[in-house]
Amino acid sequence: MLHEIKSLNEECGIFGILNAKDAAENAYLGMHSLQHRGQEGAGIISFDGNKVYAHKGQGLLSTVFKNQNNLDKLTGNSAIGHIRYATAGSCGLQNIQPFFFNDPRMPFAISHNGNLTNAETLRKDLSKNGAHFQADSDSELLGLLVMLDNHDKFIDRLKTSLKKLRGGFAFIIMTAKGMIGIADPHGLRPIVLGQNKDGSYILCSETCALDQIGAKYIRDLQPGEMITINNNGYTINHFTKSQGLTVCSLEYIYFARADSIIHGVSVHEARKKMGATIAQEHPVKADVVLGVPNSSLDAAIGYAQASGIPFDMGMIKNQYVARTFIEPTQDKRERGVSMKLAAVKSVVQGKDIILVDDSIVRGTTSKYIVKLLQAAGAKSIHVRIASPVIKYPCFYGVDIESKAELIGANKTVEEIRESIGADSLAYLSIPGMIKSINIDSDNQYHGLCTAYFDGKYPTKLYDYQDKYDAETKQIEQSKGVK
Ligand code: SF4
Repeated sequence: MLHEIKSLNEECGIFGILNAKDAAENAYLGMHSLQHRGQEGAGIISFDGNKVYAHKGQGLLSTVFKNQNNLDKLTGNSAIGHIRYATAGSCGLQNIQPFFFNDPRMPFAISHNGNLTNAETLRKDLSKNGAHFQADSDSELLGLLVMLDNHDKFIDRLKTSLKKLRGGFAFIIMTAKGMIGIADPHGLRPIVLGQNKDGSYILCSETCALDQIGAKYIRDLQPGEMITINNNGYTINHFTKSQGLTVCSLEYIYFARADSIIHGVSVHEARKKMGATIAQEHPVKADVVLGVPNSSLDAAIGYAQASGIPFDMGMIKNQYVARTFIEPTQDKRERGVSMKLAAVKSVVQGKDIILVDDSIVRGTTSKYIVKLLQAAGAKSIHVRIASPVIKYPCFYGVDIESKAELIGANKTVEEIRESIGADSLAYLSIPGMIKSINIDSDNQYHGLCTAYFDGKYPTKLYDYQDKYDAETKQIEQSKGVK
């Protein structure tokens, strides 16, 4: 579905670069490739060996750095940046990262992607210990834990603090000594290491940001890893034991950019395979295959290739809709759909259509798209979702934390079909999804988080458990399940 307007929103994008001539400029360029991960705010902090420089603001990166001076003043050889989508905390300026912590022992800056499942408990403990909060997002908690820790060395303060975090997270930390990249014990949120021709090292959310600045990929961070980079190169340590890789499957389905490669799997190829697999699982006779632009086009091509039914561009996305910063509210999202999408009549009129979409969250966007195609004269519309039914909330960095918001948790597939007005509706099976994504170029399986679809959370839910249990009970009662 549409990245900017869909009910399901990406978490954040993070980027860090060390020992580069124009660190902030490179960060800015790389972060452009991560813009799809959030549009509510952006910021860069740079360091020149003596001083730190920062600029942050609300909205797209290009808006925040509209004035070239704001970028030019960020001098120094190292920089970290952040692209924000609010998964925890409000949209206010105070929550825009990177966060800077002026610890007299070792000042540091942090960029975070993900969500902590024990944030509330940590916040309570921290405030008992006298911590001062600058923001209401969970991203500053790691910094505050480090500030309050008494170990002599920064790295020990960091390790001790990281061990207290639960949930899905990737961090980039910049200090006067270098840069550190961190992946949670399950590797839920992606983070990669790369190197540019000038020898500078880069840490970032997706490989597309490495490509953007001409850097080569070195490796994905593995669960529980902490990569420390300084003038002598990089070293790999662990802050905790790996719990086995369970990278977020939604990264492949929807969040990541199609040209990125995550843990050896091309996002574009994975999406095409998901489209091909659902074509095998749920074939239907039709004249043409359409994909909802942009993130469902790859799956639609896969469906068309596997079924032999031609693919066509039956829907157009308006790339130029003006936007200020967008708050994650339902009515704004809905208004956004009508401004963003149009049907191509010559492709649609009088045709039996297979409409491939990557997911259905609340169902409102799908309903609108079906109506749009019907108004353009489609004879029949067969919706094929290139991922399984989303039935469970995510607590690791996606802004759906309640079953009540998910149409798949509350309705059967037939009820969803009826509610969106399609002639038929089918979803990819969970084994079909795993088979499509979970094999890398060496034919090796790596782990995936599939909790959105099967409720098998790789971690305990901690602060969310009681709410989750109460809600599950309520839904079961309303469905008449004893
Ligand atoms: S629950 Fe879903 S969205 Fe959240 S990390 Fe797992 S797969 Fe990704």
